[in-house]
Amino acid sequence: MFETLTKAPGDKILALMGEYAADPRSTKIDLGVGVYKDEKGVTPVMSAVRKAEQRILENEKTKTYLGIAGNKGFGAAVLDLALADSVDRSRVRIAQAPGGTGSLWVLMQLINRAKPGATVWVSDPTWPNHNPIAENSGLKVEKYPYFDTETRGVKFPQMLAALDKLGKDDVVLLHGCCHNPTGANLTNEQWDQVAASLARTGALPFIDLAYLGFGDGLLEDAYGTRKVIASVPEALIAFSGSKNFGLYRERIGAAILIARDADQADVTNSQLLNIIRGAYSQPPDHGAEIIRTILEDKDLRAEWEAELNQMRGRMITLREKLAEAIRQRSNSKDFDFIAAHRGMFSLLGLPNDVVEHLKAANGVYMIGDSRINVAGIPEDRVGDLAEAMLSASK
Ligand code: PMP
Repeated sequence: MFETLTKAPGDKILALMGEYAADPRSTKIDLGVGVYKDEKGVTPVMSAVRKAEQRILENEKTKTYLGIAGNKGFGAAVLDLALADSVDRSRVRIAQAPGGTGSLWVLMQLINRAKPGATVWVSDPTWPNHNPIAENSGLKVEKYPYFDTETRGVKFPQMLAALDKLGKDDVVLLHGCCHNPTGANLTNEQWDQVAASLARTGALPFIDLAYLGFGDGLLEDAYGTRKVIASVPEALIAFSGSKNFGLYRERIGAAILIARDADQADVTNSQLLNIIRGAYSQPPDHGAEIIRTILEDKDLRAEWEAELNQMRGRMITLREKLAEAIRQRSNSKDFDFIAAHRGMFSLLGLPNDVVEHLKAANGVYMIGDSRINVAGIPEDRVGDLAEAMLSASK
């Protein structure tokens, strides 16, 4: 049977990781892969996570099934963290899912049950996995204008004009904060306008919340999500605990739905649970129990928040240092946008031949579209990196 298959395209980011690993130069710099790294280049297990795991190991009484919606305490804690009191909880349902990706997957399936073949509008550009998740679920994908390659900010008037034209059968995928791959984000005033547009057109907001706490703070990063869901009757959110809890390999996330009323929420949730049952039956517990343990305990939560603040602060400092180093060497503000961007990534807007040159000549690895992971910038080599970027862009 398998002879009918042809080779599927490989993942570009994983291929780049392989190239980096094989590069013998000790001066190489990895700005490719999308995980947080500390000053030693390590993706650490957060201290609150270690402590929570110890408690779980000591206290766990059973390994019996969790249930289709997953860990209930985790669900309640995530709603408190992400939504707070922005919407009446009687209209909200949450199901734990394997990572932000698994959450996007089950919610895309849900959309296709509600409106087969509906169109999902994604930002131009967006996280490359959005397209296959939507298309594999039977949905169509279209793009709305987002990144301005001149200013490296958001093309907001064009974005809003595109959203204003949508209707009830459309779904709008928004990055809740820390846009991947660009690093360019909406201001609070722009979120207000997006929320008003969605309320006017009836298009369904679908918020990908993969980096809560990685931009300006837990509260600040939730502004857009809370504003949108407070303004519309229905919405979907895919939450990820991969980045903010450093739990990448535990595959922990949550699919959240907001319906017009409690009855509609029950019906819609029954479909969501039915999708999960027919896909992987139930989610694994470990990552969820870690997050529940941390968020429900005052001390562990404070420890987690402090470490998250420190990670965020480090990324902002690296942004500022790189922008400053380039400004000093070039006497131009052309790369100041790096300091204005937020989250783990910045899209530099360099042509592919410059990206290739940086890799070949300097051992600086970034994604082909010129996305850099700012957490990968070695603090003691910011000057070298600035010089390499400037000479390659000449
Ligand atoms: N959405 C976006 C925008 C992302 O960048 C990521 C991770 N790269 C995810 C969702 C999914 O993350 P995960 O499945 O690892 O939780």
